Amino acid sequence: MSAASKSDLFRKLPSVDELLRDKAVAQLIEREGRSATTAAARNVLEKMRADISSGALAGEQISEALAQLPSAVEQGLQKSLAYSLRPVINATGVILHTNLGRAPLSQSAMQHAAEIATSYSNLEFDLEQGERGKREEHVKDIFRQLFERQMDRPLSTIVVNNNAAAVLLALNSLAEGGEVIVSRGELVEIGGSFRIPDVMGKSQAILREIGTTNRTRIADYEQAITEKTKLLLRVHRSNFQITGFTEQPSLEELVSLGHEHKIPVLEDLGSGALMDLRSTGVSGEPTVFESLRAGVDVVTYSGDKMFGGPQAGLLTGAPELIMRIRQNQLFRALRVDKLFYAALEATMTSYLKDDFDSIPALRMMRVSVVEIEARANVLCRQVTGLSAEIRDGQSVIGGGAAPGSTLPTKLVVVSHSRMSADSLAEALRLNSPPIIARVENDRVLLDLRTVFPEQDAVIAAALGRIGGNLRR
Ligand SMILES: *Cc1c(COP(=O)(O)O)cnc(C)c1O
Repeated sequence: MSAASKSDLFRKLPSVDELLRDKAVAQLIEREGRSATTAAARNVLEKMRADISSGALAGEQISEALAQLPSAVEQGLQKSLAYSLRPVINATGVILHTNLGRAPLSQSAMQHAAEIATSYSNLEFDLEQGERGKREEHVKDIFRQLFERQMDRPLSTIVVNNNAAAVLLALNSLAEGGEVIVSRGELVEIGGSFRIPDVMGKSQAILREIGTTNRTRIADYEQAITEKTKLLLRVHRSNFQITGFTEQPSLEELVSLGHEHKIPVLEDLGSGALMDLRSTGVSGEPTVFESLRAGVDVVTYSGDKMFGGPQAGLLTGAPELIMRIRQNQLFRALRVDKLFYAALEATMTSYLKDDFDSIPALRMMRVSVVEIEARANVLCRQVTGLSAEIRDGQSVIGGGAAPGSTLPTKLVVVSHSRMSADSLAEALRLNSPPIIARVENDRVLLDLRTVFPEQDAVIAAALGRIGGNLRR
């Protein structure tokens, strides 16, 4: 097209101000604000200019495009104002899926957090004395109650932003400038670049590695103890296992060695279950109580793994050590906000009441295969246009908890002769709300263990729509 006719087309474009005066666009300003609407209008006009320049938009198409301008502005506006963070349906069967936000909050945690977040609160205000209070007071008593029931020694708990922060804070508070003895078999990296040697470096404590990858004996710890030793550290391996020719001293041995030399033992438990999971068939995941009963001085664990609450790092241990950790300046930098305290307090209340089923992650671990199969059957019957059948499978705990331990489940296997598993998984992912499935051996697998029952129908509808599109 000639330069002259391009400039004719350019002349037909309204100015941004003219476009904003269009009736439909004016309504958008009313609803979504002038700044956002202006930016969207500017983008749409810029895109049209670029299309004219490149020849992608020419001749007769221009009047059509001009008529579409207000709706193009609306679409652009919707896109720019849409939340990036969206709920998804987790059909992977991985209960604590780090990429999908780990533990979903309980209803009571969510309600309490919403109530506290949208109002003023007594976060740092002592209502009885009418003076300044401390935010950690709100969970102190509830943790004390829970631990008192299980343990025969006094214990305190404080909370920070996440477990990585808890480990950093504990190491810095208890071992700055001194040595921390760790087995080479426990120098792990946990998803998203939490590496024990690096955290140690940042905490200003000196790592004293002992033993070998597969075998570390209590004598290795003993020989490494000097006047510089400040801590014995045990790290839960979380996302891997060492099998075969292996050796690791028991926690009790480590504790008695530490106490003999007046050196505290810190255990990074990672997941930190507060409920005994053996009844659910999950093995190899020590509870916080078990570690403390073995005599560990301080344990650190995540709020959003097996605990089933908000993202957080919890430190429970001997009151004098927890006090030292609390007094560290770093605590202020790593502290958590009111939403978190509210969600944590509500989650803890469920524990106090033994109401494990109100905590979604725990309920998902406890739900029976019979129940999953019944739901899978209903789903299979509802699916049209695609093939769906039930198969035995395994759900995974995830979040670095109980590595190697799985829960038996029933999977819904979905397929279609004209659609690859990857395309089917993609179509599910692009559903609104997105449905995240597992793909194995060119089959799409849906595990309803991690799907909230009320979402089963949403999955059925999405599969029906995908199947319907294939038939056309
Ligand atoms: C998960 C995990 C961490 C990190 O916890 P975040 O809460 O994600 O910061 C640290 N140590 C261990 C052993 C873990 O399993």
